Amino acid sequence: MAWDFSTDPDFQVQLDWADAFVRTEVARLDLLWPHDTYKPLTDQQRAIVDPLKKQVREQGLWACHLGRELGGQGYGQLKLALLNEVLGRSKWGPRIFGTQAPDTGNAEILAHYGTPEQKARYLAPLLEGDIVSCFSMTEPQAGADPGEFTTRAVRDGDHWVINGSKFFSSNARWASFLIVMAVTDPEAGVRNRMSMFLMPADTPGIEIVRDVALFGDPEGEGSHALITYTDVRVPADALLGEEGDAFGVAQTRLGGGRVHHAMRTVGLAQEALDMMAERALSRWTKGSALADKQAVQAFLADSYIQVQQFRMFVLYTAWQIDRYQDYQRVRKDIAAIKVLTPKVLHDVVQRAIQVHGALGVTDELPLMSMSLTAQVLALADGPTEVHQVTVARQLLREYTPADGLWPSAHIPTRRAQAQQELFGDVPV
Ligand SMILES: Cc1cc2nc3c(=O)[nH]c(=O)nc-3n(C[C@H](O)[C@H](O)[C@H](O)COP(=O)(O)OP(=O)(O)OC[C@H]3O[C@@H](n4cnc5c(N)ncnc54)[C@H](O)[C@@H]3O)c2cc1C
Repeated sequence: MAWDFSTDPDFQVQLDWADAFVRTEVARLDLLWPHDTYKPLTDQQRAIVDPLKKQVREQGLWACHLGRELGGQGYGQLKLALLNEVLGRSKWGPRIFGTQAPDTGNAEILAHYGTPEQKARYLAPLLEGDIVSCFSMTEPQAGADPGEFTTRAVRDGDHWVINGSKFFSSNARWASFLIVMAVTDPEAGVRNRMSMFLMPADTPGIEIVRDVALFGDPEGEGSHALITYTDVRVPADALLGEEGDAFGVAQTRLGGGRVHHAMRTVGLAQEALDMMAERALSRWTKGSALADKQAVQAFLADSYIQVQQFRMFVLYTAWQIDRYQDYQRVRKDIAAIKVLTPKVLHDVVQRAIQVHGALGVTDELPLMSMSLTAQVLALADGPTEVHQVTVARQLLREYTPADGLWPSAHIPTRRAQAQQELFGDVPV
């Protein structure tokens, strides 16, 4: 029996340290520079940020998503899930702890598929937290459906020449390098028609047409680039992984990324619940606290139940990844928590907003921003509906059609069978 819901006491000490550190030191960055989490640091910011990162390293909590051989802690996904709950409440938390998406996923594929030269050039500075990277896959006309991608890479002697356009390439404006997915064999099936390319952001022919902003981003702060690639020439060794292998490379990246989003969202949903509970106890109307109204009690109870179910499912999924070391084997549950992530956050945040009344919809509280995050999480790394299809397909593999006309649970058929097995043709 190895079902254990307790945390190692030593690791709990580290989690408690991280929790206090994020609530005090890191929270200040969230308040002062909420839109700067991916930007190169100003001198003023570096003077604050570098010592904070140093403290995280000293605590053995830097880059916890990575194995020891890559400068991480080798803690595995379960410990990472518990830490990410703490970091998920803060915008700057992941950057200060070296676990910031999409750099985490990009580091993961560089570690898996990169040559020693590629690792030295791109992975090492990324792991140091000195630079930002960009994953450029989604296309304006194709969304994230690889079967519809048209960005093309054509071999020309010792080089590849890339032409096409990409949409929502996050942080391209601040990235030092881009990972670009392009069609190298249009005749091949969807799993073999694309290859992944690494290129410095200043490679000639890469043009950011515009930086699309999310709702609520201040003027000029958009960071999701529409990019055109025009005769972008990269050497043959810019291939990340084998030619034709981009589909598999992307899956490696997205598997981990989706789980990490879910882990952080547990923390964010808990934060919304905490806010709701505090407000319910603090606000009085018609002679009693909101906490005494049945409707508000139902909000609190439903939110607690949803967050707990979600948390257990995320931890169980992390535990499975550690145990089997195979994202593919855990695919159904990764897709399932990807579906749950925006749903749980949305539901809890909507109730928290309602309990806060008018204040809830202002920019004086973080709740509307959390609400937008829930909507973003229903799209980024694949829309909810696509993951529902994955869950259903994986689930159906465990079933077969019924034999004969009636469902296998059909009571008259089963009763007749039981009678036959126990008494043969003797009437009951
Ligand atoms: C904040 C943010 C950051 C992002 N960062 C990056 C990035 O760094 N790099 C990158 O390459 N991409 C990035 N993306 C893009 C993201 O991967 C896509 O937005 C997402 O995969 C959906 O593609 P789409 O927006 O074109 O929607 P569409 O593909 O047009 O889908 C629209 C809707 O159609 C329905 N739908 C689509 N496909 C199916 C299906 N197969 N079955 C059933 N229903 C379906 C769903 O309801 C879906 O919401 C980011 C997106 C966001 C919101």
